[in-house]
Amino acid sequence: MKLLRYNDGHIGISDGTKVVDVSALCSTSAAEWPPVGINRLIRDYPTLKAALEAELRSRDGVPLASVRLQTPVPWPNKLIAYPVNYHDHATEMASRGLANLQGFFLKANSSLSGPADPIELPALPGREVHHECEIALVIGKQGRQIAVEDALDHLFGYACLIDVTIRGKEERVMRKSYDSFTPVGPWIVTADEIADPFDINMRLWVNDELRQQANTRDLIVNIPQMISIASSATTLYPGDLIAAGTPAGVGPIWDGDVVTIEIDGVGRMRIPVVAGKRGANPVFAKPYEFKRAGPSS
Ligand code: MN
Repeated sequence: MKLLRYNDGHIGISDGTKVVDVSALCSTSAAEWPPVGINRLIRDYPTLKAALEAELRSRDGVPLASVRLQTPVPWPNKLIAYPVNYHDHATEMASRGLANLQGFFLKANSSLSGPADPIELPALPGREVHHECEIALVIGKQGRQIAVEDALDHLFGYACLIDVTIRGKEERVMRKSYDSFTPVGPWIVTADEIADPFDINMRLWVNDELRQQANTRDLIVNIPQMISIASSATTLYPGDLIAAGTPAGVGPIWDGDVVTIEIDGVGRMRIPVVAGKRGANPVFAKPYEFKRAGPSS
């Protein structure tokens, strides 16, 4: 099943063709602030699943193509992200900061944006802003110190995620936390729809050019390990998001580009890039030249 948010805060479920509004079933309204209805829906999903499936079967809903999709979990307890998590990207960045040695970092939750929202480039002359093609893991069940062998029980589902990044030496959190720097969507696909979490293909294009492709079998820290490691330090809550790290092929995006991310079995988003007027500050005043280190393109 697909869980989604649409049209200014409605919560819906979809079979890929129609959307049925289940806001009332998860005790929320579009006006709720903060918008955490979907966090409750994710928490309560095991008990609501049969009722949700019945709703999807019996109601007409509206065509999926007719709604304006929003980022599915706009207010998670946290947005966790793993750094370099594919060996090819490690080579490209000449990085020794692999995910198995570095652990995770956090991005600001407010950097989350949806499939209909553009990436707004900050007004930072002399800086490159890069795309990173990633799969988002959505946590379903609260847990701390989750064993690797139990980790998939805590995984609710998946979404596409672009980890937008200003290249430079400054704090990673700041370089990755600008508004609109974490497009997530177009919805959450529940974990049962993905046959094998160790064999998920993803691709990212800028305009018509294929820039990145990867398969989760090539992750340095795999999906259960990412959940287990994160939970060793911090309690994971329903709706928490984990960005799994990027493969090689990162590169700059510019005003007027369109970034397309597609993950097999999950979905596809086409995100326009626009130049913003905001974002300048003394921290990023000095130009930075990004140099690709490895043989990867
Ligand atoms: Mn990343």
